[in-house]
Amino acid sequence: MSAHPASASALVIVGASYAGTQLAASLRDLGFDAPIVLLGEERHAPYQRPPLSKGVLTGKTSLDALPLRGADFFESQGIDLRLGRRAIALDPGAQTLALDDGSTLKYGSLALATGARCRSLPVPGSELGGVFNLRTLEDALRVSDALSSAKRACVIGGGFIGLEVASALAARGAAVTVVESQPRLLARSFPPLMSDYLAEAHRQRGVELLLGHGVRALAGSNGQITHVELDDGRRIDCDMAVLGIGVQPNVELAQQAGIACDNGILTDALGRTNAPNVLAIGDVANAELPAVPGGPGRMRLESIQAANDGARAAASALAGEPQPFEGVPWFWSDQHNLKLQMAGLPMPGDEVVMRGDRQTDRFSLFYLRDGTIAASHSVNRPAEHMLSRKLIAKRVRIDPRQLQDESVDLKTFQG
Ligand code: NAP
Repeated sequence: MSAHPASASALVIVGASYAGTQLAASLRDLGFDAPIVLLGEERHAPYQRPPLSKGVLTGKTSLDALPLRGADFFESQGIDLRLGRRAIALDPGAQTLALDDGSTLKYGSLALATGARCRSLPVPGSELGGVFNLRTLEDALRVSDALSSAKRACVIGGGFIGLEVASALAARGAAVTVVESQPRLLARSFPPLMSDYLAEAHRQRGVELLLGHGVRALAGSNGQITHVELDDGRRIDCDMAVLGIGVQPNVELAQQAGIACDNGILTDALGRTNAPNVLAIGDVANAELPAVPGGPGRMRLESIQAANDGARAAASALAGEPQPFEGVPWFWSDQHNLKLQMAGLPMPGDEVVMRGDRQTDRFSLFYLRDGTIAASHSVNRPAEHMLSRKLIAKRVRIDPRQLQDESVDLKTFQG
């Protein structure tokens, strides 16, 4: 085994997507001048993922627009970006990381930004040709390629990936059926009112939805999928299937090193794990949440905002000026002509107030907790979404009748 010391003071980051890249960039902004090694398993330089289930499939997003940073960013910032490299073992006692090329890196601090991978579908036929996951650029290119000849597509899972992909496939002219095991769409993120609105919106735009159905098998001929068999025996004919049935965090490195994990790597609000000098950020981190009144004490948030803000908080800790993220979680999704924007974390028991009319596809739902706005979901109302993030952060008290009344300008509540 060759010794390949980065340096005893180096920061080594495992995972070169949003969290890993942001951590390296934020540290340089904060004047951190120790060596930084950024390891990426994929062969592409860090790239944007949201277009993979949208514009890359419809052809509206050029691949040139995907890189997260300019071509000379990593070199100019003194960030040693190593692509196509996998970390295979971590020794927190010796502060070393073994890589798949047989080398070992010595680190001063280590950040695990290993992300998550697609859950697999444990049914016969899931290995057939024409069955795809969608997580990486390579996955998206394979789906896009298959679409050139596919007429019928089955999307398994009615979560964010499934619904965005269904929209993109329909836009490319395929007949699309979505199979979701829950009785409603996005059941973990949305209350029934929003799930029902979305279901109607997809159906009106030609997507067939089969809710409350499991998949018994994928079947085909000559190694290529021809249909999906549901739990009630029904058969969905298709030329391709896309799986969007959730993800599981890549915790193996941490687990094997004895670092505490529970649905992700457990961290505090600064990304610190229970191992000295080891942080975890991004989709893999189950992090303590800043004070979200009435919210969960910690959560593994799968969003770009959480990856970026978690990385900034971790950078502040490494730079010796700890500043936990105390803002409002937010994310978005584009489906057909609908821009969905979510802020805060709705909880069971919140009072739900609608502003606008869902028939027009322009409205917001506000979630009130203890008289203050705790969360919002907006459809095609970007300005209201931006404003709601401020109102949530300031814990503005507001009368539900005023919130509902469109003649009342919400800006007056900004304070
Ligand atoms: P997801 O949002 O967790 O949705 C997966 C859905 O599939 C869930 O409703 C799940 O139900 C259902 N499901 C699970 N097993 C199934 C089965 N055998 N048959 C039918 N349905 C099944 O996950 P995702 O859509 O795959 O997204 C993956 C990741 O990409 C997430 O991290 C997501 O946040 C991210 N992403 C985000 C965006 C965005 O923010 N705009 C867009 C795309 C992707 P259960 O809940 O019962 O498991």
